[in-house]
Amino acid sequence: MRVLGIEGTAWCASAALHDAEAGSTLIESDPYEPDSGGIHPREAAEHMSEAIPEVVGTILDHAEAKYGPDAVDAVAFSRGPGLGPCLRTVGTAARSLAGALDVPLVGVNHMVAHLEIGRHESGFSNPVCLNASGANAHLLGYHDDRYRVLGETMDAGVGNAIDKFTRHVGWTHPGGPKVEAAAAEAAGEGVRTGTTGPADAADLLELPYVVKGMDFSFSGISSAANDAYDAGEPVEEICFSLQEHVFAMLTEVSERALSLTGADELVLGGGVGQNDRLRGMLAEMCAARGAAFHAPDPRYLRDNAGMIAVLGAKMAAAGDTLAIRESHIDPNFRPDEVPVTWRDDEPS
Ligand code: ATP
Repeated sequence: MRVLGIEGTAWCASAALHDAEAGSTLIESDPYEPDSGGIHPREAAEHMSEAIPEVVGTILDHAEAKYGPDAVDAVAFSRGPGLGPCLRTVGTAARSLAGALDVPLVGVNHMVAHLEIGRHESGFSNPVCLNASGANAHLLGYHDDRYRVLGETMDAGVGNAIDKFTRHVGWTHPGGPKVEAAAAEAAGEGVRTGTTGPADAADLLELPYVVKGMDFSFSGISSAANDAYDAGEPVEEICFSLQEHVFAMLTEVSERALSLTGADELVLGGGVGQNDRLRGMLAEMCAARGAAFHAPDPRYLRDNAGMIAVLGAKMAAAGDTLAIRESHIDPNFRPDEVPVTWRDDEPS
């Protein structure tokens, strides 16, 4: 089974070919990089309509050169969640391509794909998943043929909360890597060492830490970080404290989810998962309780079509395909709306 995946929920126009038998995935991506500010929905949609044909064309050329004219067995696309105008471009491209190639169409939930790529890479049977992405933040666990939302942000996505602060200080999008670098400077470490030990509370600026059960909130922390910057606190110190607070919240709720579900595996998903400090905290927490932890390769953490093609192949193999008339996009598509058809033979 070879599946061509298309991703374009917000900033990353991406296509991929996943060969399930060979276990190989080729990804071609073209990110939208705003000159200033955050992601402008209209500019992002314009980027998609220019970049999607290019990345799909590159992958198709590769597929046909390697496998011949019947290279693609199915076309998978991100149905949501995401920005409506971007999703519409992706949906139209996927429907046209599936029609032209005369192959089935598969509609993939982008958040479930963030989760499944970690399960696929790790071989874990039934992990809890922390999705730490730009526009979202969820804890997911599997039960009764669905991924259930165990906890989630009550307002901003985790990456968006960090980016809101970096916009305030005038840094270009995406802000997460810049915050990571500045925090590492404040910690007296080289960038991306991931070895910074637990912060001493006395070293931290006081910022809101809001966890309620397995839900959490980030809106207050972005505003407080902005206020600290306006009050003259050094930006590196704010970045350090921001990371320590946000990632401690995510680690606390992940530990609670492991504890309450009895699961002993945790996978990480989403673009913020590229942060070494977050990975370090989660790895340390899992090691302390004897749980296994897997963080996918960074190319599979940020938005990418590889994860869409990998999950698309599992769905297509399970016969979980879409008729064109049912293939509408859904900007608010939640992960717990997806009937999981591809895990029938696995423990629940
Ligand atoms: P979603 O997947 O929820 O639709 P998204 O489309 O914004 O979100 P992702 O690619 O999952 O996309 O994540 C992008 C986010 O990751 C941005 O907010 C960016 O600042 C953040 N990010 C990227 N690298 C890092 C890093 N090293 N540390 C922290 N955050 C990071």
